[in-house]
Amino acid sequence: PAVTAPYELQVKDLVYAYADGHHNVLNRINLKIKPGEKLAILGRSGSGKSTLASLLRGDLAPTAGSVTLNEIKTTEFGDDIAKYIGVIHQTPYLFNTTVVNNVRIGNEAASDEEVWDVLERVGLKKLIKKLPQGLETMVDEAGLRFSGGERHRLALARILLKDAPIIILDEPTVGLDPITERALVKTFMDVLQDKTLIWITHHLQGVEHVDQIVFIEDGQIELQGTPKQL
Ligand code: ATP
Ligand code: MG
Repeated sequence: PAVTAPYELQVKDLVYAYADGHHNVLNRINLKIKPGEKLAILGRSGSGKSTLASLLRGDLAPTAGSVTLNEIKTTEFGDDIAKYIGVIHQTPYLFNTTVVNNVRIGNEAASDEEVWDVLERVGLKKLIKKLPQGLETMVDEAGLRFSGGERHRLALARILLKDAPIIILDEPTVGLDPITERALVKTFMDVLQDKTLIWITHHLQGVEHVDQIVFIEDGQIELQGTPKQL
């Protein structure tokens, strides 16, 4: 299926249990994520945040209830979901190929100019420009070894090139030092300004930037409100 803007995600009475699990990881979650909204999802380790991210993107199918994008179940989109919802995982995957190919994954038709443009927006242009082989530098053991923060910037560049309207960040700053983390959160917020953002995090650093915060505990939404209210 295909849908058009404005994009709205809706979660209705969502229940999820892993096939081999003995309990519901998520139990009756209800959420409406409006076009352009910035939502932070907080919760302890194991509370079901990453599971919820997979359900939002339709990578997992609900045990009960539904997740819809403009009234269509996200599981029905198949690979096309990437046009609408992009994810940056905790440890972004880099491929054993050139910088330019790493950015272009899933968007092979993009020009070098477009690649430079997104690299500039995520703050990697200077670094890549300095390399003798520039965009053609290999990203591997023998070539360029990105730091944790740079990996996330590259993953962000990849997502910007695809231009999906909804972005899910699954703990994008975990394991980084506080200064790098702050800089990265700022970059995310700046370049994702016009997008719907679902930001999964385990602590409060940076959440003052969002419109809505949801706390998940024991598979349920325990608290919900704006940063000021909470
Ligand atoms: P963290 O903050 O550590 O990333 P989380 O909130 O993202 O945690 P999830 O990864 O969604 O938590 O896991 C929620 C629960 O589901 C945990 O109890 C976990 O052990 C369980 N779980 C996760 N993935 C699977 C799986 N593939 N099969 C069975 N159980 C799983
Ligand atoms: Mg997780």
